[in-house]
Amino acid sequence: MTPYEELIAHTRETYLLAATGELLQWDQETMLPPGGIAHRSRQLGQIAGLVHERATTPRVGELIAASEAIRELSADPASDSAVNLRELRRDYDRATKIPAALAREKAEVAATSQHAWVEAREKSDFSLFRPFLEKNLELARKTAECYGWPADGEPWDALAEDFEPGMTAAGVSRVFVPLRESLRKLLGELMAGGRRPARPFEKIVMPLAAQQAFVRHVAERIGFDFSRGRLDVSAHPFCSGHDPGDIRLTTRYRDNRVGDALSSVMHEAGHGMYHQGLRPDHGGTPLGQPASLGINESQSRTWENQVGRSEPFWRWCHGELPRFFGDAAAGVSVEELYAGVNVVGPSLIRVEADEVTYNLHIMVRFELERALMAGDLAAADLPAEWNRRYKEYLDVVVPNDAQGCMQDVHWSMGAFGYFPTYTLGNLYAAQFFEKALADLPGLTDAFAAGDFSGLKRWLNQNIHAHGNRYRPADLCQRVTGKPLSPEPLLKYLAAKLKPLYGV
Ligand code: ZN
Repeated sequence: MTPYEELIAHTRETYLLAATGELLQWDQETMLPPGGIAHRSRQLGQIAGLVHERATTPRVGELIAASEAIRELSADPASDSAVNLRELRRDYDRATKIPAALAREKAEVAATSQHAWVEAREKSDFSLFRPFLEKNLELARKTAECYGWPADGEPWDALAEDFEPGMTAAGVSRVFVPLRESLRKLLGELMAGGRRPARPFEKIVMPLAAQQAFVRHVAERIGFDFSRGRLDVSAHPFCSGHDPGDIRLTTRYRDNRVGDALSSVMHEAGHGMYHQGLRPDHGGTPLGQPASLGINESQSRTWENQVGRSEPFWRWCHGELPRFFGDAAAGVSVEELYAGVNVVGPSLIRVEADEVTYNLHIMVRFELERALMAGDLAAADLPAEWNRRYKEYLDVVVPNDAQGCMQDVHWSMGAFGYFPTYTLGNLYAAQFFEKALADLPGLTDAFAAGDFSGLKRWLNQNIHAHGNRYRPADLCQRVTGKPLSPEPLLKYLAAKLKPLYGV
């Protein structure tokens, strides 16, 4: 075997172990009886330890170096071998830059501070969470120092690299600042408009079994392949991608709120179709993985929003309702349903926010975590600064910290640099969809007929099949011919929402 062949064989085995851990995690969220949690934690800890050991063994470093010395493997930076070496070098360097003691301390602090966060949020008492946040921040700064960042960068960049390779705080800001101003203006116009859509789904009685059958039908129709995937129930919806042949989606159901289950299933199915569209022959190597969290999120948002909140989709979907809900939905028109899934308005909670305000929620978090990481904001001042920005950006008064700066789990886990990937996903989704519309005339007319195969094929060819070949910024440039810009998202939102709000 050549060093490169040995490296890939070793990597495939490590990925197999990691995927086994993911499957155990899926089982924990969907099937595990409460009595099994302690044993499951030991199983997951054991596997995580083995994966880390295999990924950081000095032999991997030697194999990477020996492969890098063979010129032809990296001559074309977009070749399979060059991409795998690029990613393996990056992962190895990052993993080995963190001392084992720091990695262990981070994992322990993340676990205890998540417990503290749950209690602090229940009591809405920030003082209970503050010491843990401070400890997480201290460890995040240490981690950033181990990774290092470019001379013109900042500590935040070092951590964000885990989630969105190549993205920096300055780069995020360049897109977010103009987006923020335009979104606030659009929100103001919509709220001052003459019309306010209602949420008709809440009036329709929909039994659980019918909801389950209905959302499965939609997921299947938009292109999720159930011979290579499943849909189950969990407390928080997610997509677990073990292999293109085995992709697990989850959702949750609420009485008479099929709109919630529908949008979460379309979202997760979007992630799922991305994973199903990755090339199986690249499985177990970096090349066969999604390009980034932001690109992955663009796939879920495309199906949830660009498709699932579009008028043509509802023209099709409206006709499907009687099959599943009988007469229950008889009094509700296509127009009411379409308007109802596009209700916009300022709110306190990110995960319940609409397409316009969602991004403002993210910007508050990005600006604050950037300041926390840089040492410009003390943890003690987080609640006041959070509340001030919610008033300024969304014009809402935060009544308590549970509905304010303690609503998300991310910072309690030490995940700084993650939040912007959600808005990057929205931006990529809009920019890719704009290109798909230009490439495929009549695309949305097909939606109205229940045919989504054109869009799925386009995404398969332009995004999924590349896997991790191109860095997110390069993929965007390659697919759309332009760097990432706030314009496509703003144009899409204004064109859809202004008529609905009588603006
Ligand atoms: Zn998602």
